[in-house]
Amino acid sequence: EFARLDELGAQSGSDDGGVVGAQPVLAVVGRPNVGKSTLVNRILGRREAVVQDVPGVTRDRVAYDALWGGRRFTLVDTGGWEPDADGLQRSVTEQAELAMSTSDAVLLVVDATVGASATDEAVAKVLRRSKRPVILAANKVDDQRLIAETASLWSLGLGEPHPVSALHGRSSGDLLDTILEALPEAPRERRAPVAGPRRVALVGKPNVGKSSLLNKITGEQRSVVDDVAGTTVDPVDSLVELDGQDWRFVDTAGLRKRVQTASGMEYYASLRTKTAIDAAEVVIVLLDASEPLSEQDLRIITMVSEAGRALVLAFNKWDLVDDDRRHQLEREIDRGLVRVPWAERVNVSALTGRAVRKLAPALRTSLASWDQRVPTGQLNSWLSDLVAATPPPVRGGKQPKVLFATQAGIRPPTLVLFTTGFLEAGYRRFVERKFRERFGFHGSPVRINVRVRE
Ligand code: GDP
Ligand code: GDP
Repeated sequence: EFARLDELGAQSGSDDGGVVGAQPVLAVVGRPNVGKSTLVNRILGRREAVVQDVPGVTRDRVAYDALWGGRRFTLVDTGGWEPDADGLQRSVTEQAELAMSTSDAVLLVVDATVGASATDEAVAKVLRRSKRPVILAANKVDDQRLIAETASLWSLGLGEPHPVSALHGRSSGDLLDTILEALPEAPRERRAPVAGPRRVALVGKPNVGKSSLLNKITGEQRSVVDDVAGTTVDPVDSLVELDGQDWRFVDTAGLRKRVQTASGMEYYASLRTKTAIDAAEVVIVLLDASEPLSEQDLRIITMVSEAGRALVLAFNKWDLVDDDRRHQLEREIDRGLVRVPWAERVNVSALTGRAVRKLAPALRTSLASWDQRVPTGQLNSWLSDLVAATPPPVRGGKQPKVLFATQAGIRPPTLVLFTTGFLEAGYRRFVERKFRERFGFHGSPVRINVRVRE
């Protein structure tokens, strides 16, 4: 009698294995002792040793957020790694291959005081095959006189060697400029932060009480600003105050005019819903708590999570809900809303005004989650513990390894996991659940994308 979101093929957004525009990744490779860690510290603008204090997902990789010239990128340090029994050269070339396949650009660090060693040449050979840009840093050029010697590094076939002193900081700014030129543009956030009130859509199937709620909210205040200053288009939005904060309810013109929805108008109603969702940052899906959850309700909820908007579920007509109905509703929610357990929930009554103000804290919580960013170091130390305790299931005889992760974006929060193999939807959901247990993100969808090393 009521639908289940998962049966409708709904996705919480975490089921698309595809890759979104990620914050670009720079991998730093090179032999031990050439100064990779020192250079990484220099780039991150701090002095403490990085390799020991923030564990990576696997022992040999550590990822950080870096910011230079207003651009963000993820820096993967392949530093604290030990040569294994098979020999140094093989380890380093494997490391280079891994770096190549998981990054957007590679920074090869060599020790200019030593020159190109056989290992450097082996790594360069691997990197030359890469389609990714490679930047060659000639480190330990502490002294002007050493610059001439870096010319011999042209022999590596990776273009111009860039002299730098990681220890003293010499030319590290120039090196970073070169890196940023080579890195693909950092993807812009989907929506630039806009000035003014945050945009809210109020949606729901017919007769759940949308007009009543909007009237309640707007009716309780002295002035409703319909004409938003400076807009030349039809004022389709309403500026309202709720709980001491201004909000912009988008696409409310139709609601206020009480357009009768004739049969056959359903297509337009759903189009209107979609338009409102797209225009909003956070969406209130209004549900009639006195009636069973319907497929139409769930379709609207799915639209919101697929559009990647923050979500507040408002159960309206709470004045009609008795104890029996409340228990029944809890069961419907448990079964029907399994894919959006993270949504904020409020029980309201547009008729009596019950708890209408509580919508504001729910909107604020959802938006804060929608805007939230977990630093890469914190993300990876959490992820390494998780993956160690519960590794991804073996698939086709192979155990995919999770190498590291970065939060590529916000609005909605989007994680990219770098792996050695495909991660099943079930495991991605597990990661999402654990991620939420650790970092919250109440009220916002979270996307988890996987980038598999070729
Ligand atoms: P990694 O193994 O490649 O990460 O190398 P480290 O960053 O641990 O550096 C190895 C050694 O080289 C350390 O003793 C550093 O102090 C030193 N070192 C790093 N960069 C420079 C530099 O620019 N000039 C000089 N003279 N020494 C450096
Ligand atoms: P809309 O189609 O979603 O805009 O819904 P309306 O605001 O037109 O409301 C549909 C019907 O539900 C109207 O008869 C309202 O009076 C009634 N209604 C709305 N909110 C409540 C509520 O909180 N409690 C009760 N008992 N009825 C409500």
